[in-house]
Amino acid sequence: MPFWFWSVVVFIYGTVVGSFLNVCICRMPRDESVVNPPSHCPKCNTKLGIADLAPLVSFLLLGRKCRYCGEPIGWRYFLVELATGLMFVALFAKYRFSVDFFTFALLSASLIAVFFIDLDHWIIPDQLSVFGIGLGVVRDIVGLVMHEEGRSLLRIPIPFTQFELPMLWSIAGLLICGAIFYAIAVLGELAFKKEAMGGGDIKLAAAIGANLALPLALLSFFVAVFAGSVIGIGMKVAQRGQQKDSYLPFGPMMVIGVFVTLFFGAEIVAAYMSYLEHGGM
Ligand SMILES: [Zn+2]
Repeated sequence: MPFWFWSVVVFIYGTVVGSFLNVCICRMPRDESVVNPPSHCPKCNTKLGIADLAPLVSFLLLGRKCRYCGEPIGWRYFLVELATGLMFVALFAKYRFSVDFFTFALLSASLIAVFFIDLDHWIIPDQLSVFGIGLGVVRDIVGLVMHEEGRSLLRIPIPFTQFELPMLWSIAGLLICGAIFYAIAVLGELAFKKEAMGGGDIKLAAAIGANLALPLALLSFFVAVFAGSVIGIGMKVAQRGQQKDSYLPFGPMMVIGVFVTLFFGAEIVAAYMSYLEHGGM
């Protein structure tokens, strides 16, 4: 089968996952189940059938409104399905069918949900972070069982004994990244006398640490801070003179950081290393 054929298949699966993400984005902040009740129109409560739920297609065919009551459907639904489909294809183009592809596709899906929920509600549902952590740990174990190249256990020497404590790298990554964000949260609160980093950000950082090798996880945080600064300054300029107090949640920036790292992380790290080697500093 040619590459384009699998790209189309992967894209369609991506839009179906995106359709489910729309349900998560809508219901998780309200602590509602994402499977029960089945999809229904938020206005008229009519249960939606297969023809109303086909990703992308239904939205366009129905003219962006509910078939039963005419309630307009936001572009957001379409955007999430399209973005998830494109993300899956991009990951497939980079990683082809591999354990990495499936892991990163699922991780990206949960991060797309994080992006929109945190943007709207300033919360990151625990389910999504726990899902990310579980994903990283399972992926680690699968890699070990399959004797994947470069997979190993971290062995921490126990002081004053000859024993070593074996640990999964994903667990080490989640502990280190979680601890870094926890420290920033504590220091930030001391310095600014207000919450600088929420518990949701700490758990998300742990999930990222469980999935990306440590240098890449740290790189994703740097990209997040950079994106946050650029977008924050942009917002300040756009709202000049207005008294509106704007707040930019950090979760979506972390998601941008991971996405940049998934595609360009190795190249950025390599460029930085060669910069150091050639006497840049
Ligand atoms: Zn309706």
